[in-house]
Amino acid sequence: MTNFSVAVVGGGLGGLALAHGLRRAGITVDVYERTRERTDWLQGYRIHINPAGAGAMHHCLPPAGWQSFLDTVSVGDGGFGFLTDQATELIGLADDEINDPAAAPPDRHYGVSRIRLREVLLDGLDDVVHLGRELTRYELTGDRVTAHFADGGTATADILVGADGANSRVRGQLLPHAHRVDTGVIAVAGRFALDGASAADLPAALTDRANLVVPRGRGSLFTAVWRGAGAADHAIWGFSDAADRFPADVTTLDGAALRQVVRDRMTGWSPAFHHLVGRSDPATVHALRVRSAAPVDPWPTGRVTLLGDAIHNMTPMAGVGANTALRDADLLRRELIAARAGERPLVDAIGRYEREMLRYGFAAVRQSLRNAEQAAHSTALGRAGFRTMLRLTAAVPPLRRGMARRLGS
Ligand SMILES: Cc1cc2nc3c(=O)[nH]c(=O)nc-3n(C[C@H](O)[C@H](O)[C@H](O)COP(=O)(O)OP(=O)(O)OC[C@H]3O[C@@H](n4cnc5c(N)ncnc54)[C@H](O)[C@@H]3O)c2cc1C
Repeated sequence: MTNFSVAVVGGGLGGLALAHGLRRAGITVDVYERTRERTDWLQGYRIHINPAGAGAMHHCLPPAGWQSFLDTVSVGDGGFGFLTDQATELIGLADDEINDPAAAPPDRHYGVSRIRLREVLLDGLDDVVHLGRELTRYELTGDRVTAHFADGGTATADILVGADGANSRVRGQLLPHAHRVDTGVIAVAGRFALDGASAADLPAALTDRANLVVPRGRGSLFTAVWRGAGAADHAIWGFSDAADRFPADVTTLDGAALRQVVRDRMTGWSPAFHHLVGRSDPATVHALRVRSAAPVDPWPTGRVTLLGDAIHNMTPMAGVGANTALRDADLLRRELIAARAGERPLVDAIGRYEREMLRYGFAAVRQSLRNAEQAAHSTALGRAGFRTMLRLTAAVPPLRRGMARRLGS
């Protein structure tokens, strides 16, 4: 047995999952998170957890934590549909077509409130997570790594994992050439309260499942639903299009102005979509410039590595960024446990993790980028072809089953 300690920078989804997995295996781990309050992390959107993410959490979390995750997932929001801009269904896949009814809980898809997922992941890590510690740089001394924090303090460990998100400081020092590109796509997202009276005016598709609208004209609208304990039921929506189709100052507009910007781009669409966007709480409406990590060549492996958005930040348009971060956590956990058992040297174990993580991580980056580009730059002909393909898929059972299995994976 070889003993070593791990410092994780960033207590987001990936960093916390890794901390659970290492702690369960008896490996010394500390997480340094720059925000001080748990509520600093509140970001009110629902995220989709696919079987890769659920399986990774099942491996990393203690049984009670996994159960808390299952207790917190959204219920009654299953299924996925594609709609025309008139809210007519092109294809609607029921929850039991997407989730094999015989599948075990770690092999299923879930909707979860990001806030609640953070809470579940923080539970039981009080002695391991150090809040208010913002990494400014790290320093390698022999076989040890020292993290330096904005408060003037330091911490030393045998390995340092940068799980510090899309603007990672660890990546900035380890791979100064790695960068993110502006995809030229802007997304505007908001939340609609489902417990208010105006929810009754929405069609069932918008209150019961996730949807992607494939319009005749430009732009694309994604919707999803969160229903469950711990937060008010709501639908989320995200409208995306090429940046040059928005006002130049779109990212500085307030929520009420953004709602109008989106509605202007949905001229001629069904009143249902105008209702969804127009009746959303303006405080929840934000615009975001969509960025994506540029490909990175493998680097000489050492005692500092990266995980999640810190290395393969991707557009939200495939809904797999968190799932990929969780998968990284599970893979790195397994490799570090193998090194601890003496199966291979520590740096070899990290190298194996990095090779595999770069392969599937950047495959997800490419897929997410393709989805973003399709949403923003597809032609009228391409969209018409896609609608025809969806209608055909809806009518042919084997095609339908294939699509249901591929969704969100
Ligand atoms: C609108 C939107 C919708 C999305 N929907 C989905 C979805 O449905 N499914 C999905 O799989 N993914 C989704 N994602 C992506 C997902 O949110 C991210 O990929 C995921 O959070 C990445 O996890 P992470 O642990 O790598 O980073 P984060 O969760 O971003 O965590 C990074 C942490 O590091 C901390 N930190 C940063 N810098 C420092 C520092 N210098 N020192 C110490 N701490 C630091 C931060 O405070 C933060 O807590 C979505 C993203 C967006 C924007």
